[in-house]
Amino acid sequence: MSAPRDVIAAIATAQGRAGIGVVRVSGAKLDGMARQLLGKIPAPRVATHATVCDAAGRPIDDGIALYFPAPASYTGEDVLELQGHGGPVVLQMLLRRCVELGARVAEPGEFTRRAFLNDKIDLAQAEAVADIIDAATETAARCALRSLHGEFSAVIDKLVRQLVELRALVEATLDFPEEEIDVVDRAEAQKRLERLRTEVGHALRSGRQGSVLRSGLQVVLAGRPNVGKSSLLNRLAGEELAIVTEIPGTTRDAVRQTIQVDGVPMNIIDTAGLRDTADKVEAIGVARAWEAIARADVLLLLVDARSGATAADEAIIARLPARLKRITVFNKSDLAGESTRSEEGAEGGRIFLSAKTGAGLGLLRHALLEIAGWHPGGEDVFMARERHLVALERAAEALSRAGLESVNVELFAEELRLAQQELGAITGEYTADDLLGEIFARFCIGK
Ligand code: GDP
Repeated sequence: MSAPRDVIAAIATAQGRAGIGVVRVSGAKLDGMARQLLGKIPAPRVATHATVCDAAGRPIDDGIALYFPAPASYTGEDVLELQGHGGPVVLQMLLRRCVELGARVAEPGEFTRRAFLNDKIDLAQAEAVADIIDAATETAARCALRSLHGEFSAVIDKLVRQLVELRALVEATLDFPEEEIDVVDRAEAQKRLERLRTEVGHALRSGRQGSVLRSGLQVVLAGRPNVGKSSLLNRLAGEELAIVTEIPGTTRDAVRQTIQVDGVPMNIIDTAGLRDTADKVEAIGVARAWEAIARADVLLLLVDARSGATAADEAIIARLPARLKRITVFNKSDLAGESTRSEEGAEGGRIFLSAKTGAGLGLLRHALLEIAGWHPGGEDVFMARERHLVALERAAEALSRAGLESVNVELFAEELRLAQQELGAITGEYTADDLLGEIFARFCIGK
């Protein structure tokens, strides 16, 4: 695979007004364009004050230019970054000027795609770039950065290397079928296979944890007014509420918000906001919330510990999917004189706590994290995506089939080949073009 050579350009900073806005350009040779844009070629990797002018020589904007000649750049091509004033109009003018000089407006993720095609990063690292930008919690962001630094890829590469060695050992016996397979070789192959299976199992467990961090837990919150829902959310989110982010790609609305519990994003859909409404924008929010409820993991039903669930609570529950796991929180246990505790009821878990004093909150956190499948302080976590988990699972299956096939060397070798192919797809060693298209299409423009 080789990267296309045309010049691409995009506004790399978010839309709206800001102190600084960045237009990024990448292509095979940009010195000519730099001279036309800036009247000079900035020294490589030196922040250079410059004025961008239009075709008639009139200034468009004043700012800083950064020039990264290939190959020491993000994409591996020549890259030019224009840091101008962060206004939408001025940035559009800068972009238009680049297009006049021969650039094409970049597609989402196209810079990172070029970085991948030019072997600057592998596919798992490219995905980590998007995961950092989309991270909903600090833990998720740190975890994605580790993947970008290649920690996840290193684990996968090590597994692939071990598989290659094992294949070499096994395939040598295929090449000389008339020779007896050495008993020693056979025992050695089995030993290595076992080690591989254990390590793939480890990677899968860490990957599953990472996928919890990526997608978080979908929580439906129900409860009568005044029962303590806001108090509980504030308590749960604790100090981290200040850096709560919205779910990527959606507007923030009264119905949904994201908090984090021990670094795991919890997307809260408040049923109190689910009312029929004539307001169009609100109606869109409500419709989206119902879609989210269809995919939700758990119902958090808040009741007053003094009165328990009411008929109104039951009416709400009746509208929700029956398969939702349920935690009933008996709040205001301080007023009810109830001890804080957690018990199993026929309808699901019951937790007695006080949102006001904070007593018993740990029990709820624990229950939520358990449903999310999060095990704090476990192994190192990788920011795995669904496709990584599927590949690891398939590799694990091939390896366990290989174990069963140990009498038939040819089948054994074939399963090892399949396992290697699955693992190689994670880092992009074997990847179909349409998969690349799908991965990069979800990036933002300019990344
Ligand atoms: P919401 O309408 O369900 O969001 O309820 P709020 O969180 O606004 O709480 C309603 C009232 O109950 C407020 O005055 C809270 O201070 C009070 N409250 C909430 N939780 C508790 C609790 O556990 N104990 C006591 N004593 N009061 C609480």
